[in-house]
Amino acid sequence: MLGMLIMFKHINRQKYHRVNNKYAVIIGIWAVFSISGCYQSPQAPKLGIAPKKAVAPVPQHFAGISVENRPVMYSVLGYGDDITFIIAGIHGDEPAGPYLANYLADYLNRNPDLLIGRKVVILPAANPDGLEYEKRFNVNKVDINRNFPSDNRIDSNDFGKSALSEPEAHIIYTLIQQYKPDRIVSIHQPYACIDYDGPAEALANQMASYCDLPVEKVGALPGSLGSYAGVTLGIPIITFEMRENDSNITTQLLWQKYGKSLLAAILYPNPVQ
Ligand SMILES: [Zn+2]
Repeated sequence: MLGMLIMFKHINRQKYHRVNNKYAVIIGIWAVFSISGCYQSPQAPKLGIAPKKAVAPVPQHFAGISVENRPVMYSVLGYGDDITFIIAGIHGDEPAGPYLANYLADYLNRNPDLLIGRKVVILPAANPDGLEYEKRFNVNKVDINRNFPSDNRIDSNDFGKSALSEPEAHIIYTLIQQYKPDRIVSIHQPYACIDYDGPAEALANQMASYCDLPVEKVGALPGSLGSYAGVTLGIPIITFEMRENDSNITTQLLWQKYGKSLLAAILYPNPVQ
């Protein structure tokens, strides 16, 4: 019995070597043809057309779930110490921001030189339920952008019964605690201006020099992210208000209009090349 078993193993090993030898011959023939130029891959690009540089998709991280259990995802690009936090879609009836923020993530992923010494955290759809239903508030009918623990906070039905009562606001709060950004840009519509809170006047002016939105100081609203991050925590924060009709243009056009301004925030205080 033992003898039969040993023989069986031996035959199997011989078979394994035969198969391996077969592959070695095939690979050898392919190598000779490739080197001599006879072999041409059917996918080979035509002369003069550079193949598109392959870049892995932007990795997504799970930050938490919305009231209706939609995942809230974010990306982190770069490894440096200078940190910019980009947020879009806090208000669900402002759809242009999420498109622009996703485009920005893809652009940075394809241009890693911009990330040397920097880290960019991007939360493109902060209020996924609101975006789904195209409503400003979340499904508890609370304005996420009034639900933060700022010094000027007011509890109410619209602003939430208490600070961070809404999971979507709590996710933003947690990401700020976790990453401790040097500056924050929150993308909105439709007021067509660059508003700021905290020590962010120079940053606002820098961003405004790369687009046609004027700097306008709106004032710290009760419980807003601007009031909390800018005034309470002292982090420079921009409320980047695009136009209403920016919802109707392509993402490429959005990027043409506002991309450099966002890059100016990330590269600040350096200029955009
Ligand atoms: Zn808004």
